[in-house]
Amino acid sequence: MRYISTRGLAPVLGFEDTLLAGLAADGGLYVPEAWPSLTKDQWRALRGLSYPELTARILAPFVDDAIDPATLTRLCREAYAGFGHPAVAPLVQLDHRLFALELFHGPTLAFKDFALQLLGRLFDHVLARRGSRITIVGATSGDTGSAAIEACRDRANIDIVILHPKGRTSAIQRRQMTTVLAPNVANVAVEGTFDDCQDLVKAMFADAPFRDEMRLSAVNSINWARVAAQIAYYAYAALALGAPERQVAFAVPTGNFGNVLAASAARRMGLSVHSLTLGANRNDILARFIAANDMSIRTVEPSLSPSMDIQVSSNFERLLFELMDRDAGATAKAMAAFRAEGRMPVPDATWRRATALFRASACDDAATLAEITRLDRAGYLADPHTAIGVAAARAHMPPDPDIPVVVAATAHPAKFPDAVAQATGRRPALPARLADLETRPERCAELPNDLASIEAFVRRHALRNAPREIA
Ligand SMILES: *Cc1c(COP(=O)(O)O)cnc(C)c1O
Repeated sequence: MRYISTRGLAPVLGFEDTLLAGLAADGGLYVPEAWPSLTKDQWRALRGLSYPELTARILAPFVDDAIDPATLTRLCREAYAGFGHPAVAPLVQLDHRLFALELFHGPTLAFKDFALQLLGRLFDHVLARRGSRITIVGATSGDTGSAAIEACRDRANIDIVILHPKGRTSAIQRRQMTTVLAPNVANVAVEGTFDDCQDLVKAMFADAPFRDEMRLSAVNSINWARVAAQIAYYAYAALALGAPERQVAFAVPTGNFGNVLAASAARRMGLSVHSLTLGANRNDILARFIAANDMSIRTVEPSLSPSMDIQVSSNFERLLFELMDRDAGATAKAMAAFRAEGRMPVPDATWRRATALFRASACDDAATLAEITRLDRAGYLADPHTAIGVAAARAHMPPDPDIPVVVAATAHPAKFPDAVAQATGRRPALPARLADLETRPERCAELPNDLASIEAFVRRHALRNAPREIA
């Protein structure tokens, strides 16, 4: 399988190089040169596979000959071995035709673990084969840092340093990062804001000698392998509910468009998907686009579902490329206009295609809380992101009652205890395997908001773990 950039000016790459590159050199995103497609018989043959085995089979055409099937299956097994549920991605029935696909049984209790646990191992495997080593640096406001740290911990060829603003993350978020004592993991509490942390990371990447010496890399949400890994749980759910003989609808709480893009990739591969509904919070750019072709950036408003507080959905470019019949020049032009004017000019016919592919609805904080309360009364405790998915699903139930509707449950309720308590009067408990989080020892450096100090720290960290290689 070869990968092309949505903007058409970057080299065509194989799977390994696409994995390591992340963003394409022309600023675009890598997509498969052609979509693999499975026949009904081929889908049927995947029924009954365990989650890791199914993932390996779904990934096989994307990985192609870059990794042999036995190794790929082993990496998938290892990636999902640490999940807290034997089904990995269990389906829970909410009413007679509504289901929650629980994607929060990974180490950090949110769906990003599905892609990142595998990504860390894929990186490590490819780096080992090339005899090379990388240093991942990133900034977090608390939400995404732990998933990256859990993905990279104990990997032989990866060091990771995550910056967070000192005293500005929740205690749970900080502890999920700082209690990981693996020697290749370092946390830095920066005396500054999240924006300061992000600026420090950007400055490290802009410092070319430092970037090259440390072989800096990032685990960003636009890596194609992340999207590919997420296709598997849509297939898993649909097959369990009767695909390919039966159609299944999905509803997905959406921020960067990565998760729902994986669902649409599954549909392109021939999975019997009836419809895809995306849920948004008050940051509703995607819902406005689907409703009225209004793709205009507004300021980001904080909400009870912070992982969806996003205005520019980075993965949307991959959909746009398909909507424009894979015309890279037109895609690049639309993206440039979007950046320059804050509004994407989408031709009417293109927008109509988008509305045929996706339904959407948005939910403010009050409606989110009301949905959490409603679900709790029916016996299901949902986090705010999942509740938005459920509300979106309810707004777009397929008329045919034989079509089940599956909501991507993207975070464990204990990750957002304040909102859940506000809606239900109860504080959800952490799962048993994390119950001692508050008493585990922490390790974290504290540094000033100063590039030289941070770079010196990153260098020391990388040298300690691979002294011969870098020296
Ligand atoms: C990241 C995240 C989302 C949004 O997913 P995208 O792939 O960015 O659309 C939704 N819910 C939770 C809990 C998340 O962490």
